[in-house]
Amino acid sequence: MVQISRRDALLASLTLPGIIKAAGHTAEGAAADKPKRFEEVAGFEVSELASRYSLAILPLGSLEFHGPHNPLGSDFIIISGIAERTAARTNGVLFPTLAFTQCPAHTAHFAGTMSIRPEVMTMYIADMLRNVLRLGFRKILILNGHDGNIGPGRGAIAQVADENKDSALLFASWWEFLSGELMKSLGMFHQMNGGHGHGGPLETSVVAAFRPDLIHLGKAKDQPEPPDLSGGSPYFLQKSMAKDWPGYSGKVSEASAEKGRELVRISEDAIVKLVKNWLTSGEAPGSW
Ligand SMILES: [Zn+2]
Repeated sequence: MVQISRRDALLASLTLPGIIKAAGHTAEGAAADKPKRFEEVAGFEVSELASRYSLAILPLGSLEFHGPHNPLGSDFIIISGIAERTAARTNGVLFPTLAFTQCPAHTAHFAGTMSIRPEVMTMYIADMLRNVLRLGFRKILILNGHDGNIGPGRGAIAQVADENKDSALLFASWWEFLSGELMKSLGMFHQMNGGHGHGGPLETSVVAAFRPDLIHLGKAKDQPEPPDLSGGSPYFLQKSMAKDWPGYSGKVSEASAEKGRELVRISEDAIVKLVKNWLTSGEAPGSW
């Protein structure tokens, strides 16, 4: 009778699920749809991480009221989904999505919104970036899913780029890859003022693409278009609240998971193209 030691049994139980999984995928296939997640990196791998992977990806989400029909983590869900696929396609190390972030005054007073002060957020993101650079990464993609992160995110980048002369920090918001013209050509909703409509059909569709079980369309009503103040050019107007605003915008009835999947595909492809161009153009100047 063959004696099996406890150690052998433990090793067998650890490797078995891996063998079963590998039977269904090629090695490359498995690598192509599963990115390297930072929280899963073992201690012994850390020293080689920055040389084995082309960049670090930091997704920024939020916990914010997005209307009665959407989950509080809408931005978190959207950007986590897009970042996972972007990391897999660009050989990036995927860091955990930031959930508690800065939310603007107009959503902060709705129950469920969690907001961190902008100055705290700026310092927090700057420290995150410093830690990632300390690992040896020189290129970091900050992939943003929420309006309120733009100010603090750019502030943090400005500070950290100044301290680390050999670093390159790219900030991109997923919805900015979907122009009004593109939305029109796809027969999809768009807003005249360049906004994407907080909690509106765009976000609702994209959440539905990832988590249809979390959408409750019957709980929301279509909202009137806001007036266009500029004649079509984007602008940014901040107020602490607007009269009778229910915490979301746009014609929610236009939302669908199918539109969401198409929007994700277009945004994701454009982000991947940007990152690949950036990785192959090492000395590209910044946006100035
Ligand atoms: Zn949002």
